[in-house]
Amino acid sequence: MNLGKILLIEDEELIRETVALALTEEGYDVTTVADGKTALEILRLNPPNQDSTPELQPDLVILDLMLPNINGLDLCRLLRRQGSTVPILMLSAKGTETDRVVGLEVGADDYLTKPFGMRELVARCRALLRRQHQFQPPSSTNNTHNSGSIVVPENLPKASPSLSYQDIGMYPEECRVIVRNVEINLSPKEYKILELFLRHPKRVWSRDQLLERVWGHDFIGDSKTVDVHIRWLREKLELDPSRPIHLVTVRGFGYRLG
Ligand code: CA
Repeated sequence: MNLGKILLIEDEELIRETVALALTEEGYDVTTVADGKTALEILRLNPPNQDSTPELQPDLVILDLMLPNINGLDLCRLLRRQGSTVPILMLSAKGTETDRVVGLEVGADDYLTKPFGMRELVARCRALLRRQHQFQPPSSTNNTHNSGSIVVPENLPKASPSLSYQDIGMYPEECRVIVRNVEINLSPKEYKILELFLRHPKRVWSRDQLLERVWGHDFIGDSKTVDVHIRWLREKLELDPSRPIHLVTVRGFGYRLG
């Protein structure tokens, strides 16, 4: 069973081996690398070494932030600059909000702070790989926008979604969401944000309110986290994420659905 190729770049041996074992047991094909320079070579981001390295095109990259030679942020930036869309899960011992946001801004898709549980790591990997799969361009792209009616895909319950707004439908019992008749994958936080919006249409939510309701009271961080997640949600929900019509910014207040 091979569910996908994962490249794990991590210099701490214990973490590297534990993570590799957990993912291998889940059915992933895992390649491990212990430093930034080797990662560059294996990903062919370093042309002079092109001949001597095997080609690896991972489906997912797990990237530690602090690495010998070249750090995770630079690697991430390089990958994105070369046009790679491979999902990147960043690992870091630092848990401050700034690191998190910087990681996301250089193009990481998700972020996990050490120490983390293997189950959480596996769940994040699965979600990222699924999301990537979802983003493969569809065979026909005739977006009939704003039809208003929801056609339920075959693999979903026949009943209409119990929460809906225009072309977005949610089945809270199954944690599944469809947009323009296609099921989409959301991270748990994205899902919670969307659920909140769908349950309170037209209500304006401030960033602090969203932080409290979705992340909880004990979350230490700033409201940029909310903005990053709204951006991701827009990418999944909106036809044109740069001009959102569903998740609307209410200047000076926060966000609103519709
Ligand atoms: Ca490290």
